[in-house]
Amino acid sequence: MENSPGSERTLFQKDDSAQTAEILNIVLDHITQGLIIVGPDHAVLAFNKQFEEHFRFPQGTVKVGRDFREILKAWADGIGQTQEFLERTIRHLEFHAPFEMEFQQTIQGSTRWFLVTHAPLPSKGFVRTYTDITEKKKSVEQHIYDALHDPLTGLPNRALFMDRLQHVITASHRRPGTPNYAVFFLDMDRFKVINDSLGHTIGDKLLVAVGRKLADCIRPCDTIARLGGDEFAMLLENVGEPAYTVNVADRVREKLTRPLEISGREVFTSVSIGIALGAERYERSEQVLRDADIAMYEAKGRGNGSYEIFDTDMHANILDRMRLVADLRGAVAREELLLYYQPIIDLKTQQLTGFEALVRWDHPKRGLIYPLEFIPLAEEHGLIYQIGTWILHEACRGLKLLQERYPAQPLLSMSINISNRQFSQQDLVGMLSEILLETGVDPRTVILEITESMIMENIDTAIATMKQLRNMRVQLHIDDFGTGHSSLSYLQLFPVNALKIDRSFVNKLTANGDNQEIITHIISLAKSLNFEVIAEGVEMEHQLAKIQNLQCGYGQGFLFAHPMAFPAIDSWMQAQKYTQ
Ligand code: C2E
Ligand code: CA
Ligand code: CA
Repeated sequence: MENSPGSERTLFQKDDSAQTAEILNIVLDHITQGLIIVGPDHAVLAFNKQFEEHFRFPQGTVKVGRDFREILKAWADGIGQTQEFLERTIRHLEFHAPFEMEFQQTIQGSTRWFLVTHAPLPSKGFVRTYTDITEKKKSVEQHIYDALHDPLTGLPNRALFMDRLQHVITASHRRPGTPNYAVFFLDMDRFKVINDSLGHTIGDKLLVAVGRKLADCIRPCDTIARLGGDEFAMLLENVGEPAYTVNVADRVREKLTRPLEISGREVFTSVSIGIALGAERYERSEQVLRDADIAMYEAKGRGNGSYEIFDTDMHANILDRMRLVADLRGAVAREELLLYYQPIIDLKTQQLTGFEALVRWDHPKRGLIYPLEFIPLAEEHGLIYQIGTWILHEACRGLKLLQERYPAQPLLSMSINISNRQFSQQDLVGMLSEILLETGVDPRTVILEITESMIMENIDTAIATMKQLRNMRVQLHIDDFGTGHSSLSYLQLFPVNALKIDRSFVNKLTANGDNQEIITHIISLAKSLNFEVIAEGVEMEHQLAKIQNLQCGYGQGFLFAHPMAFPAIDSWMQAQKYTQ
């Protein structure tokens, strides 16, 4: 008994029942908690070594029979605790009711969490156990952290962002004056394309890199969060003048204009930003984020890397657009779409070679709506398949009629605009061959106009699709040429027949010969690659003279004819001088 391990830490060996003492000593040494029993006169009755270890009592400080308050005092001095701490701790010892409490203790630089249970003894004094709950606390904290952060970028997530924003909104209502915060909704441009073409690993790395760049643009008091996918949000506090907010937006744009290096390759990216400035009408964080989202949507419409500040008109615009989309859904079935046709002229022979089909929407209430207003909506809302099919069909039908009515040699052609989504759609080739069969049109007289950006989005599949179309003997023209950024090395891989010089370049040609460098360049480029050239948007005689001078093969524009509805073609054909 004398030699049992815990014997010097309990009084029990003095007890009559040696067996009780032995059992208690074993219990004391066995449990993982620290335990101490203090008698009515504050004297220590028993303790275990876990208790000593938990609180790093120097060997021999805790002794059976010693006044526990003195032990505490020496210990508190040793770890540099205040008098107040000591008094509070001693007061807790006097509690006559049992209690449980969690507390944190820093000893020798390491901070640990303990759960203490206090059980008063009937004759005063108490039994206390101390459980080290540091690991549990840490995992709870980790859980909370995980619930509020995005695992990929480590940035705050939507939940945390909304919570912080709500605090800022609530606080702003307590202060007089205009609320002093701004929320950015940021959406990466073309992320899906990058992700699909370069792979998800690169996509993930890009998100992380962009998150870091964005974090560089704000102060420590601001919040940047990843909302999900390729969407980020920023909360700027104490923004002061609107100029500050705009500066941050500029900084973001500027930071992202330089390419990011991801796994050894340069990746170009940009973000579209919608900004909602703090306002008194905002009560909930969702309202602010929604407005920033609406503004972001406007910014997207302006082109990559733009930003917009929300104003209340935008709300009306969005509603308006939503109504338009709803109307557009039934437009094909209600036969509200129609095609206009614009002549294309061979500049060498002054003859009509064909038409470009340009879609119009005859809206029952709003009148004629132009394609730039509804084609992007159709793309965005999944209606382009249906509309695009109708256009192809209608244009081929129109072409057949025109070829029968005006049997020119060579046959008149029809240029048909293909939109982004339509071009990447799986069965474009199959659908077109069906339409050709059904309408009986010679495929060589059908021209599909596609843009550089459609091709560049996914070069390999685009080239494969182009080859399939060329095998069907359909012609391909690159529309709006000069506005995209396909590199020359790619251009020669494209199996296309012609480039259409974008009308903005033709438009800039002045009577005194300014601004002709780009056109000159495009024409010589086309020559070297054996492509035909069509100048679109020819409005003035001097522009025509210029492009003729530069040996541009074909022209299209208001100078020759405006786009016209089918029934108007006959009278135009009779009146003009370009037919054979
Ligand atoms: P685009 O392919 O560049 O079409 C030429 C546009 O220039 C047409 O505008 C035409 O009316 C206009 N235009 C023609 N000559 C002149 C001129 O001398 N001066 C000026 N300033 N403009 C001229 P529109 O019909 O409003 O079409 C705009 C765009 O909408 C088209 O640009 C094309 O990208 C798209 N689009 C038109 N029809 C269709 C279609 O059937 N399907 C698809 N996917 N897109 C279409
Ligand atoms: Ca076109
Ligand atoms: Ca064009």
